[in-house]
Amino acid sequence: MSISQNLIDIKSQLPQTVELIAVSKTNPESAIQEAYDAGQRHFGENKVQELIGKYENLPKDIYWHLLGHLQTNKVKYIAPFVHLIHSVDSEKLLIVLQKEAEKNNRSINCLLQAKIAKEDTKFGMTFVEIEEILAKRYEFPNLNLIGIMAMATNTNDEDEVRAEFSAVSAFLNKVKDSTFKELSIGMSDDWHIAVEEGSTMVRIGSSIFGRRNYL
Ligand SMILES: *Cc1c(COP(=O)(O)O)cnc(C)c1O
Repeated sequence: MSISQNLIDIKSQLPQTVELIAVSKTNPESAIQEAYDAGQRHFGENKVQELIGKYENLPKDIYWHLLGHLQTNKVKYIAPFVHLIHSVDSEKLLIVLQKEAEKNNRSINCLLQAKIAKEDTKFGMTFVEIEEILAKRYEFPNLNLIGIMAMATNTNDEDEVRAEFSAVSAFLNKVKDSTFKELSIGMSDDWHIAVEEGSTMVRIGSSIFGRRNYL
């Protein structure tokens, strides 16, 4: 199957209200260009270095999403152009993001990453920590905190995945307002469940670009 055919297939099953982010990490620029030529504009990467290289070489109207853990010393490299950071997982990172956004005279869109998976390798904050950050949103005038990102446990147990998505969706509904309302959940193996549980953005890599050799 071709990249453009994969995109058509996924889009035909996705409600129009759900944004498709094509996760292009580890794939070459030619693959991104192919998806771009098929009309895709939102792309996600999980490493800063790779994101910068692709940003420099590819069309400037691409919306770049950062999905992976972001170290504070790397914020300055992406602050000028990044569209949305999905993986904001600490107050320390928010403070640096605010400073860099201000320096660049722009607003940066952010999602707060919630930890819902059972594995302890995944980054993210507890629901309580997210509520604490929301309570001091005013300290970050150059950041648009627009919602939550989460990753389910990597398991074949669909009930477990659904329970985790359902919990984060219920939490978002509790704290939601007119600006904090996005829910970035769902990857190649679990996006159907995520959409049923209220996803507004799915992050799909291998089902578009083919299987990667590594994560
Ligand atoms: C790699 C990655 C994805 C996409 O994973 P696929 O299984 O290839 O769809 C989504 N979100 C994050 C945070 C990722 O690192």
